[in-house]
Amino acid sequence: MKILAIESTCDETAAAVVENCGAGVKVVSNVVASSVLMHQKYGGIVPEVAAREQIKSIVPVITEAVGEEKETIQSIAVSYGPGLMGSLLVGVESAKTLAWAWKKPLLQVNHMAAHVFANWIMDEASKEVPQFPAVGLVVSGGHTDLVFMKDAKNWEWIGGTRDDAVGEAFDKAARLLGLPYPGGPEISKAVERVTPEMIKRFGSKYKLPRPLLNEDNLEMSFSGLKAAISKIVTGLENLDEETRDMLAWEFSNAVIEILINKTMKSVAIYQPKCVLLAGGVAANKQLREGLKLNVENSGVKFFCPELKYCGDNAAMVGAAAIISPKEVRPVDLRPDPSVTTV
Ligand code: AMP
Ligand code: MG
Repeated sequence: MKILAIESTCDETAAAVVENCGAGVKVVSNVVASSVLMHQKYGGIVPEVAAREQIKSIVPVITEAVGEEKETIQSIAVSYGPGLMGSLLVGVESAKTLAWAWKKPLLQVNHMAAHVFANWIMDEASKEVPQFPAVGLVVSGGHTDLVFMKDAKNWEWIGGTRDDAVGEAFDKAARLLGLPYPGGPEISKAVERVTPEMIKRFGSKYKLPRPLLNEDNLEMSFSGLKAAISKIVTGLENLDEETRDMLAWEFSNAVIEILINKTMKSVAIYQPKCVLLAGGVAANKQLREGLKLNVENSGVKFFCPELKYCGDNAAMVGAAAIISPKEVRPVDLRPDPSVTTV
């Protein structure tokens, strides 16, 4: 069964054609246009600019993704939220129009669930697919959630951040350190520049707190870390490159330690067969490697999407529509910027 999937929740306009392949999902085409660079000078996403770029990109992106597949497409899937209203409207109305014009069923997809279902995409035919029950750690620019998945349709929110999302915290810390937007990848690069010699020389000069780490719950908090880094930077006469990279390293260590600690606590409580990492921050090498090590050491399987399926894309929307389909009448589908139910 081939599905045309559309994604327009934020600053990426994406379309993909996917099909089922055993228990997983195969990607036939995957096209992403991003307006991320246009937001760089503002240090964050400007919703009106993102929505206007969605309007410009949606037709060319869908056209390219469909290619020669038009006659073989059996249904249309779209992310209807959470996201920015102006951006969401573009993808949702395009999907409704195509479903109506091509007389195909329309499937609605929760964007956060789609990030998790990216773990069912199999670019290599031999790749294993996740088994339920599973724990998902969704880390993105707007979300930091731990979910317990009994099966493809029954999900329970079990923990997450009380304040800032991890991606947001990475972006804000990077900004305080004078690194460009989006800050997550920049912090990661700074971490790679830190040498053992620097770690020895700096010692624990710039130790940051690990909020809620030792509390016996699945709650997290990242806004205090941002405040702590801001206090250090303000107190410096000048921020040289080594100090900047050491602060990025310490910040990244603190965030990743919290994420791993809380995920492992959830593994102990829920005893899942696997842990699924997902969302834009899942592209972070230190997080991927650190979480994999901890999860596998506890005898649980670990999955995270290939890098190209971590950031916003439509292949993951198609994967969600195949593994957990939810048909909706076009007339009933509206964008929902703050939807929480999967
Ligand atoms: P999303 O909201 O899923 O589109 O993800 C975007 C967020 O992921 C932004 O806040 C980025 O800074 C963050 N991000 C992307 N790559 C990385 C990385 N390598 N390390 C940490 N955060 C990242
Ligand atoms: Mg996203």
